[in-house]
Amino acid sequence: MRKITILLLLISFTFSLFACEKSKSVGLKISYDITAELQENYTLNASQTVTVENGENYALSSLYFTLYTKAFEEGATVKPYYKSSETALFPNGISYGKTEITKIKIDGKDAPYEIDGITLKVGLEKPLNTGETVSVYIEYSLILPNANHRYGYGNNTVNLSGFYPVLCVLENGKYYESEYYPAGDPFYTQASNFKVSFTVPSEYSVASSLSPTGVEWQGGVTTYNYERQNARDIALVLGKDFKILKDTVNGKAVSYYYFNDENPRKSLKTACDSLAYFENLFCPYPYSEYTVCQADFLYGGMEYSGLSLISASAGDYSSYVIAHETAHQWWHGIVGFNESEHGYLDEGLTELSASLYMDYAKEKPYESYLNEAKNEYAEIRRALILNGITTPPVMQRNLKYFSSELEYVMIAYNRSFIALNEVKNFTGNKRFFKLLSAFAKKYSFKNAKPEDFIEMANKVKRGAGEIVKEYASGERVVK
Ligand SMILES: [Zn+2]
Repeated sequence: MRKITILLLLISFTFSLFACEKSKSVGLKISYDITAELQENYTLNASQTVTVENGENYALSSLYFTLYTKAFEEGATVKPYYKSSETALFPNGISYGKTEITKIKIDGKDAPYEIDGITLKVGLEKPLNTGETVSVYIEYSLILPNANHRYGYGNNTVNLSGFYPVLCVLENGKYYESEYYPAGDPFYTQASNFKVSFTVPSEYSVASSLSPTGVEWQGGVTTYNYERQNARDIALVLGKDFKILKDTVNGKAVSYYYFNDENPRKSLKTACDSLAYFENLFCPYPYSEYTVCQADFLYGGMEYSGLSLISASAGDYSSYVIAHETAHQWWHGIVGFNESEHGYLDEGLTELSASLYMDYAKEKPYESYLNEAKNEYAEIRRALILNGITTPPVMQRNLKYFSSELEYVMIAYNRSFIALNEVKNFTGNKRFFKLLSAFAKKYSFKNAKPEDFIEMANKVKRGAGEIVKEYASGERVVK
């Protein structure tokens, strides 16, 4: 680590005083070119070039990245799991990861940088003016934790998400610095373009969120090349015992990687049918491939642009998890959110979407899901109060203000679904689906805030957005 405190003090002013206020800001254009190699001993050596074109109407003097992998280190102050999850998370005993940044270069010269918590701050030698492009080369090596998490290896799979330095979202001249909170999905990214070259021991099969462009088998190791335009994130899941089923729906290749599924054809069908159902309801799915993959994973599932990770222990619940994660392709993938500040909107939309699909697929009526959400909401609220957690049920709150995973479930999943269902009842189905489709189209590959949804809802029917607002502030009582 190289200290650049003084330089950072200077570069922390990302606004240029002479910026032209009138030019229209189009944000940053970001491309990642990542080369990584995983060794048998679960270490990963990687390098990446991140190219950033400044479309903001002010100059930048630094680039900030989130190093999610650092949250898995022993000394991390904010850990990506609660103490109560440790047994399930670490089946072979507590394990930590390690992240080492070995080189950062801009234009072939060493660049000054500082690591602050899980934020990597890179100083630019000269300001990056509007319309200019800079490429930052970062070399790093990782030791993966033995953990059933989004990042880490379990007994069956190696889960690689958030393993690369992720450029922070720039908001009004300031980078949003994330923490890897244990509750929810603490992610916030800008849609970017990716090119990845990934080398692994040849015994592994690789399920990826990206589009394959070539494979080179070199005996003991195999290199997979991929690319993806307009993706929120990338993820790779590796397994030595994967079986693969494939199908095509609406011209998209759907793959299902599994190692522990009694009815894999049904899982593949759920992936295909739910994808087609949401395309019809919201807007087209933007990529040529969609992959669903079983993994050693503590929670039910996790979404990435183009890939859904499903816990191998989801059991009977797995159809619903597949439908839920598939719906996230719209509410996270296509429309992005700051999930640390207001995770409730994408989870609520996703719960509602998945319940609609399950009803359509004749798996279980929509009303049953809604009633379950109401019952679970009441039960968790009662349990929390009995345990002295009397926080009002405010949906609009940062992840750090949740006392437990249960409180997060109650707020971001149950209460938000109940709120959006009330909007649906208020507007009627036809107008409600028009709202969801218009929202997905307007904010495709952009980030949306709850205010954006509230405003659009009020346009569809006056007062509809107010329902969300009152639920978000905690005022409205669940009936
Ligand atoms: Zn979700």
